[in-house]
This record gives sequence, C-alpha cells and structure tokens, in this order.
Amino acid sequence: MIMCEKCGAESEGGATCPRCGAALPAYRSAKALALASGIIGTVCGLAASVELIVDFARSGHFGWSLVGLASSALGWILIGFPMLTYRKPGLFLPVMGAAALAYLWALDALTGASGWFLPLALPIALSAMASGTLSTLLCLKASRRGPNIGAFALFGCVLACLAVDAITSLHSSGAMSLTWSAIVAAAALPVAFLLLGLQARLRQPVPQPSLANSSSK
Ligand SMILES: [Zn+2]
Repeated sequence: MIMCEKCGAESEGGATCPRCGAALPAYRSAKALALASGIIGTVCGLAASVELIVDFARSGHFGWSLVGLASSALGWILIGFPMLTYRKPGLFLPVMGAAALAYLWALDALTGASGWFLPLALPIALSAMASGTLSTLLCLKASRRGPNIGAFALFGCVLACLAVDAITSLHSSGAMSLTWSAIVAAAALPVAFLLLGLQARLRQPVPQPSLANSSSK
C-alpha cells in the first residue's frame, strides 16, 4: 500500500492518488530516477560526440574517440540503465554483464588487437561474474542473515581468485598452477568457516533465565 502525502488516502500503487490526483511517492521517485538516467545519458552522449568530432576533425577518421564512445556507452549502461529498470534486477544485471564483456572486447579490438580478450579478459570476467552470482544467490537463499553474509562474500572472492590465478598461469606458462590464490584461500577459508560457525551459534535459541529460575525452585 502506498499512502498519498497530500490527502492520506491509501492505494495499491500507480502514478497518481485515486482520491485527489496527486503524484504518488513511488511514482515520483521512479520519475526522478528516469530523469537522472536521462541526464547521465545526455552527458555521456555529449562527451562521446565531442570526442568523435575532435578526433575526426584532427585525423580525418575515428580512432581513439571510439574508445571514448564505448566508455560513455558502458558508463550509461552501468549507472543510467539500472536507474530506469531498478525494479527488474533480472533484466539490468545480465545487460550490465553483457555490456562489460562487450566493452572489454571493444577495447581489445580498438587498441591494436593484441588478442587478450579471448584468452584472458573473457574467462576472468566470466569467472568473476559467476563468483559474484554464486555469493549473491547464497545470500538470497539464506534463511537468516548475519555473519554468514561475510562467509558467502569470502567464498565468492576465493573462487574468483582461484579462477584468475588459474587463467593467468595457463596464459603465461601454458600450465594451470595455483600460487598466490592458494595463499588467499588458505587465509580466507578458515575465516569464512568461523563466520558460518558464528552464524550457527546465533541460530541456537537463547535459554530463558526466567524458566530456569522457576524450574530450580
Ligand atoms: Zn491523495
């Protein structure tokens, strides 16, 4: 239920109050976010346009300004797009992930095609996203939240570190070997399990002192 700030009438939602016609708070905040998203989009668009014009005027073709264009597009997708679709995390999160991957691919292609996207950037980005998703799902599925959230975050970080270490070692030496990530895991996992133990202790019901006193009498 949303309460109208003007007349106090309660309604199920919508843009305006059914009694007095005033704009409802949720609608106003959605409008403010859409406006902010539009402003960010305009600023990003203007910055990219200026870069394209300057680049073309000086060199006769589009070079470095394409990196600016890609950066502006990514900036809006990461900040402005979630403002427009904040009620739909199932939509903006995959779009943000895909945009980050597309940006890395564009950077690789625009900066001389040294080919780091496929062997390095793509697997590292995907494993970081998978680790983040796993941590988030564990947090969402938890029946109670407390120190266990820290444990889930640590699990995600350890998983991401192991993946990055494996990918970079495979790329540099041709063999998958875990070095620094094993140290990270050895340091972080005991803390994570300690936090889970703490959460389990918090779950246990606290003995009632009044009941204990009455039974001893
Ligand atoms: Zn009203």
